[in-house]
Amino acid sequence: SIYLDNNATTALAPAALDAMLPYLSTEYANPSSASAAGVSVKKALGEARVAVAKLLGSSPAELIFTSGATESNHTAILGALSLTKGKRHLITSQVEHPSVLLMCQHLERLGIEVSYLPVDEEGRLDLEDLRVALRPDTALVSLMWANNETGVLFPVIEAAAMAHDAGAFFHTDATQALGKLSVNAAASGVDFLSCSAHKIHGPKGVGALFVRKGIALPPLFHGHQERGRRGGTENVPAIAGFAAAARLLTNIEAEAHYLRELRDHFEQGLLAFMPCARIHGQEAERLPNTSNVGFIALDGEELLYRLEQEGITAAAGAACAAGGQEPSHVLTAMGFSKTAVLSSLRFSFGRQNRSEDVERLLRVLPGILLGMMDMPPVKAG
Ligand code: PLP
Repeated sequence: SIYLDNNATTALAPAALDAMLPYLSTEYANPSSASAAGVSVKKALGEARVAVAKLLGSSPAELIFTSGATESNHTAILGALSLTKGKRHLITSQVEHPSVLLMCQHLERLGIEVSYLPVDEEGRLDLEDLRVALRPDTALVSLMWANNETGVLFPVIEAAAMAHDAGAFFHTDATQALGKLSVNAAASGVDFLSCSAHKIHGPKGVGALFVRKGIALPPLFHGHQERGRRGGTENVPAIAGFAAAARLLTNIEAEAHYLRELRDHFEQGLLAFMPCARIHGQEAERLPNTSNVGFIALDGEELLYRLEQEGITAAAGAACAAGGQEPSHVLTAMGFSKTAVLSSLRFSFGRQNRSEDVERLLRVLPGILLGMMDMPPVKAG
């Protein structure tokens, strides 16, 4: 089967599995324990931190291990609000991951004001909108580095500088950017940066939050681990797997080049036989691996199903939005009609994909699309 849903999650790298196994069996000591076994596990934890910090371009001390990007996002948002007591305003965008959007909606119910910046039809953010939204009582600006549905990039470095000029903290959810383009947390100027292991061929349930040196971000979970910044016994096997996955990313440029070739091969092949297909965010700067395609009024769910019958896995919008029939909030924010949104699929390529996978997809797709042409257009009601 051909897996083209790498933005939802990636296959665990064999090296990551190998790195995890000892901590799931013999090396089970608690890293906080003073025993020799505990000290040895603690040492491994330190080495893992160095490896992930290297990938993130941070110092190990700036990195907190979490249960994933959701927790990292929540820690940054709630932490920034409690650091800036009295400031009651947040800025984010309409196209953030639900882990940010749903937290912001929750905070609105608690009396925090939130501005949701719009995007244009290519999914791009206008920094002028950010400039206008910033206020003296803005505690935090939270903008994703790369969008999980379209791959479109936000100008986070410029946005971070603007937030700082206005006295606000800046957080970025770099979950999709990490491993696909060069992300340097310290050099980017952001205060907080979230990421997750399972998007870079590491295990699920582990991630990291970069917290710029000198910022005493209050924890979400209180406890003594992670130097008081994240309580709870560390998920050592997962952290070891995360580090192993990070160590595999020695050449991001080569990785990105490989992914871009696969993606561009697909898009060129698709447009050759279906010139009216719309590639969302095509005019924008975007991730090298992501292709979000509008199939003019064809039923996306049906197309997804027919591809699955051929052993090809893609996605309708984001994994988290699938299942629920809510049309993608990202494409909706880009101004597409409900019909256009429901006829869109995401193909996200990964390291284990081969050009033969793309060729197979391009071979089966015309037949499937032709077979669907006499179907009534997708119902938008
Ligand atoms: N942020 C983005 C942009 C994502 O794509 C994901 C993926 O699910 C998350 C956050 C959530 O990450 P996690 O599953 O580690 O909580």
